[in-house]
Amino acid sequence: MVLRLSTLFLRTLREDPVDAEVASHKLLVRAGYIRRAAPGIYSWLPLGLKVLGKVEAIVREEMNSIGAQEVHFPALLPREPYEATNRWTEYGEGLFRLKDRKDADYLLAPTHEEMFTLLVKDLYSSYKDLPVCLYQIQTKYRDEARPRAGLLRGREFIMKDSYSFDIDDAGLDASYAAHRAAYLRIFDRLGLEVVPVKATAGAMGGSKSEEFLHPTDVGEDTFVRSAGGYAANVEAVTTVVPPAIDFSEAPAAEVKDTPDTPTIETLVAAANQIAPRADRPWTAADTLKNVVLAATLPTGERRILVIGVPGDRAVDLKRVEANIAGFLPVGGEVGIEPATEDDLKKHPGLVKGYIGPGESLDAAVLGTEGKTGLLFLVDPRVVSGSSWITGANLDGKHVFGLVAGRDFGWDGVIESVEVRAGDPAPDGSGPLEAARGIEMGHIFQLGRKYAEALGLQVLDSNGKLTTVTMGSYGVGVTRAVAALAESNHDGRGLVWPRNVAPADVHLVATGKGTEIFEAAAELADEFEAAGLEVIYDDRPKVSPGVKFGDAELIGVPTIVVVGRGLADGVVEVKDRATGEAQNIALEDAVAHVAALAGK
Ligand code: ATP
Ligand code: MG
Repeated sequence: MVLRLSTLFLRTLREDPVDAEVASHKLLVRAGYIRRAAPGIYSWLPLGLKVLGKVEAIVREEMNSIGAQEVHFPALLPREPYEATNRWTEYGEGLFRLKDRKDADYLLAPTHEEMFTLLVKDLYSSYKDLPVCLYQIQTKYRDEARPRAGLLRGREFIMKDSYSFDIDDAGLDASYAAHRAAYLRIFDRLGLEVVPVKATAGAMGGSKSEEFLHPTDVGEDTFVRSAGGYAANVEAVTTVVPPAIDFSEAPAAEVKDTPDTPTIETLVAAANQIAPRADRPWTAADTLKNVVLAATLPTGERRILVIGVPGDRAVDLKRVEANIAGFLPVGGEVGIEPATEDDLKKHPGLVKGYIGPGESLDAAVLGTEGKTGLLFLVDPRVVSGSSWITGANLDGKHVFGLVAGRDFGWDGVIESVEVRAGDPAPDGSGPLEAARGIEMGHIFQLGRKYAEALGLQVLDSNGKLTTVTMGSYGVGVTRAVAALAESNHDGRGLVWPRNVAPADVHLVATGKGTEIFEAAAELADEFEAAGLEVIYDDRPKVSPGVKFGDAELIGVPTIVVVGRGLADGVVEVKDRATGEAQNIALEDAVAHVAALAGK
């Protein structure tokens, strides 16, 4: 059906919405694709639904092509399955929880691992039933702390989520590989550049994981890449670990008076004064900074921990959050923040400005005052035999030549410090550079965590009960619409890639004569008969300037103008992206535009 602007439910706006920060948000609202209903919650208008439908169709085709089968779950779910996996608690404040009239707990699903697992458990019982892969394109709810940038981070959004079920690890690897390939095809067809980056398993547990990031400055994710092809989410970057050092000859550690040296800078200056090195000056990298952090567990419990890192590196709280899981008593989203004065007061073993490596510090060096009883983790650069200047847990004192593995130990090693441009890629493929991106998709080897929690077992070929292994895979469908708008616009409006544009051609009739409108209406019908999707601006009393402005704002790839040229038997065919215009004989217009549209 030709979309006639005289009747299409659309009002374009000249002004940007006041709450919009990024171009995609401004333009999608101004061009009449979406309207805000509440923070992070949007209504879709006819043009928006067209684009959304095209994105969904591409995603659906590629999922079907790897043999995934479409299902559809409710968004409103009972508490029990999420209780079984502990996510009712672990999801924290991000979960929309509600009650029915009988006071039973419900939630609006943020993602559907539990329901898919239970469905397969319900119906399947043998290895012969596997592998199976199911998906849905469905609305998700997350009470995001900072809904932002319109559709980019919503509280209600559409996701394609799929789940693979395999009998063994090799099967999971194959399912994962099929998804990876399908995702690359999806983003290629959408015309959305993505970089697959290594990611951390995060709150969901599991092992192998990659995110598909669309590089753009408005992205919230920082990732790094090397010229040699390494790419990883900053959270997932691993440090090139220096070799262990033989400490058999290392001199004994020595506590020195270092008054008024509560910062790394003052400490380094003091060290160079009171104990200068012969070979080179001390630098911040020679010091071990013991950073006190507070972890808020999903249960609300607050735990204090200490991380020892080289003094020249800042702790990156997001890296800590992503990598802390195994060191705390419960899984789930953990919030990490610097410890407060109050926290420190509760632990008198921590002497502010002079904090040492805590619990494990050798009592022979420091006496028992050094003990803090707190979880103590170190950066991977703190290898056995490395020697440090660090706090002595005594006011105004530091210890010199404290040797890791000899004078102090640790409860674990954690990737926790900032990754810097120039750091070596862990695979030896060169120095890293930083970039920003939006996460468009995520593929994830979930493993047996959910199957175990929910009892999804099948009989294997020997008749023994075996726990199924799963993968979980997501594409942000509404986010893709926003990312496409973000990366395809200019000063005048949206510039949709053909595959997702709301129409193939935007036909504009300008002038007063009825013959112009008659010819344009006929041309619109002919376009449609040729299989083209048409927006036709048939508004009788609207100026050409307004019509052209709207056409550019809406962003259909080809604009055809029926106007003054009609007297000479020509129409103007304009490329929205390049602005190039060409006069084409009226009788050739359909074939010409069909060829442009590839139809
Ligand atoms: P993010 O790190 O951006 O919060 P996530 O890691 O929580 O995303 P997943 O749980 O992996 O996201 O969800 C799969 C996909 O759903 C993401 O890759 C993203 O494209 C999309 N998505 C996630 N959260 C949102 C949101 N709040 N608004 C729109 N799309 C989202
Ligand atoms: Mg993710």
